[in-house]
Formats: sequence, C-alpha cells, structure tokens
Amino acid sequence: MQKQTIRDIDVTGQRVFLRVDYNVQFDDGAILDDFRLRESLPTIRFLEERGAKIIICSHRGRPGGRVVEELRNEPVARHLSTLLGRTVKSVRDCIGPEVEHAVAGMQPGEVLLLENVRFYPEEEANDREFSRKLASLADVFVSDAFGTAHRAHASVVGIAEYLPGVAGLLMERELDYLGRVAENPERPFAIILGGAKVSEKLAILRNLSEHADLICIGGGIANTFLKAQGIDVGASLVEDERIEDALEIMRLAARRDDLRLLMPTDVVIANAAGERINTVSVNRIPPGWRILDLGRQTLDDIREALAPMKTVVWNGPIGFFERPPFDKGSIDVARILADLVGATTVVGGGETAAAVARAGVSDRISHVSTGGGASLEMLEGKTLPGVAVLRDRVE
Ligand code: ADP
Ligand code: MG
Repeated sequence: MQKQTIRDIDVTGQRVFLRVDYNVQFDDGAILDDFRLRESLPTIRFLEERGAKIIICSHRGRPGGRVVEELRNEPVARHLSTLLGRTVKSVRDCIGPEVEHAVAGMQPGEVLLLENVRFYPEEEANDREFSRKLASLADVFVSDAFGTAHRAHASVVGIAEYLPGVAGLLMERELDYLGRVAENPERPFAIILGGAKVSEKLAILRNLSEHADLICIGGGIANTFLKAQGIDVGASLVEDERIEDALEIMRLAARRDDLRLLMPTDVVIANAAGERINTVSVNRIPPGWRILDLGRQTLDDIREALAPMKTVVWNGPIGFFERPPFDKGSIDVARILADLVGATTVVGGGETAAAVARAGVSDRISHVSTGGGASLEMLEGKTLPGVAVLRDRVE
C-alpha cells in the first residue's frame, strides 16, 4: 500500500512534527557519521520552502527513560545548522511549557529541534497521554524515522492517533526501494547475505528464497551452512543450534531448480593468535583456525553470478570487516555492486552501510538504507508499525 507523503498535503504555514532518526554518535564534540542527518535534508528543505514551522523530534542512544547529559540533542542541532546553513534552535525538553513557548514564537520556515524523546519512559511505552502531549505541539505528523519505524513508540506510532500522519521524502524513498525488493523485485534478483548470526537472517532467507534467483551466503553465517554440509570449519563462529535451519533453507533452495545458492568455496582464515593469515579451500581448514573473510575464487564467482542481475540486495558484511585485512571481501562486494550496469542495488544494515562507505561507493549504489533492524524487517516481508500508522494514498 502506497503512503501519502508531504507532497500530498498542504503544509504551508502548518506546524509540522517531523520525527527523524538522528541516533548518531559524537566523539569529543565531532559527529562520527552524519549520513542520517544528510538524508533528512530534502524533507526539511521541502517544508522550509513552503513556510512550514518544522519541529524536529528524535531519540539518541538508550538513556532508559531519564535525562542523560551526554545524550542531549543540542550537538545534533549544531551539526544540523551547519548542514542547512542556518540556525536550528534546540530546546531542553520535548513537551511542556518551555517547548510550547518556543513553538509559539516560531516563524514560517524555522526549524526547532526537541530534546531526546527517550528521556521520557513514556516514549518507548507508547504512552497515550505522552503521545497526545507531543501531538499538541503541531498540526501535522511527518515521519522520516525509517530507522525507528519497526518500534511502536509514542513519537513514531502513538502520535498518529492525534495528528494526520504522512511520510517524509526519506521515508518515501526507503519504502519505495525496500518495499519493491521485498515484494516485487525486477528479475533476475539476487541477495547477498552475510553478518554474524544465522538466527537474525532466517526470516529473510525464508521470505526472499521464494522469488530470488540467486542467494550468495558469506560472513559468519556461511560457517553454519558449511558445517551443515559436513565441512570442518575449525574454530570459526558457528551456531550449532541453527544447523537444522540451515539444512531446511538448503532443502527449500534445492526444490526450486531456478534458484542458485552460492556458498563459499575458498576462505581467508587466521590462526588462534590471529598473527597468521592464509587463504584455503573450505575443505582444508586446519584445526583451531577461523574463517574471517571470503577468498578470491568465491569473490570472482559472486562477481560473475551477479553480472546478469537486475536487482541485487545486500545485507551483512561477508567478513570480519571491522578488522582489516578481513574487510577486503566486503569492500570488494561493495565495488562489485557499484560496478553493476543497469541493476537496482539496495544495501541494508548498519555495518553493511559502513562497509559501502569505507569502499567509497555509497553514491553508486541505488539505495543505501538508513535503517538497520527496520530494513531487515522490511526484507522479511513485515509491515512496520511506524509505517502502518501513516495515511494510505487514495488510488
Ligand atoms: P548489519 O549491521 O549490516 O545488519 P550484521 O549485524 O548482520 O550486519 O553483521 C555484522 C557483523 O558480522 C560484523 O560485526 C562482522 O564483523 C560480523 N562478521 C561477518 N563475517 C564474519 C566472520 N566470518 N566471522 C566473524 N564475524 C563476522
Ligand atoms: Mg549489525
């Protein structure tokens, strides 16, 4: 179902409650990664140009329902000011008289950033009274908080009971790409799945294996699949309790003869102390060594298999990418995706987006999602609560 967006309503002169996901980290006052802020700029500019009063709400970190000084939104307002080239005011609360006073004094096109909404336990509890108080600040609810849309929280879900809710331009883009991939991708369609935990990826595998033409499995999760095939993976990360599930996925895949499951044939391994590194066939892993990345041959196979694809989605690094040189495989996969001609490429997952950024190819990927958990749930075929509450577009 298509959702209404800020283009479908008249926001001129309206007070807009804009929920974003600015859950960003700072080190010594400097923002570590402002991707989520930059991705929200088109919505802010759109609202600004139409003279809306833009009241921005976000959470940051896990303050656990109380005020945590290091998690205030004030440094976010400063960085947002730099990006927008104008002053973004901030207030030290998100409801109450001080906030009401600040909102009453807003001029058309002005931007105000509210305090970290998770300083109130009512936010995560999706408390009705708290939702009503947030809603009382504005005339319209606009959601660009895709990264939080899988959470039924007051400023994401509850508020829509009191205000008409529509999607911002970022939310629209996320739903467009991830919705299409999850429901109706242009084929041939491939998924590259990596990461650490098989348990987190099973629902995706089950959903996408129905319409995928190619599934490439790498990263830590590949180890469980290799072990399920009777391969000795040494001291590699394995989820023994997921071997049955891995076998089931392989059986599902085998039943469809137009689906190819591409497993690693060679891997980069390290010994227990981590000072010796080698690339070997998956059948020759010495005892005590661990698989930490995909090998050259497997990466070449992936490149070749992806060449004819029209849609490729990637979730989860295919190696221990935080620790170079084991980031090589993931950087290589990012480049393979960037070089694909005529294909829609979608990347989801926090660490995977970081790998794409490290490869320096973010702008050559069709869509890099701002959502980790939310993008996973979309790929699982779920409807996110923060999306469900937005108004449907009337056909
Ligand atoms: P994302 O955040 O993109 O959704 P995940 O959280 O699923 O990705 O997985 C990321 C983690 O998987 C990273 O910390 C990465 O180091 C780890 N990982 C990938 N391959 C391996 C491996 N072979 N051994 C151990 N950890 C791995
Ligand atoms: Mg992760």
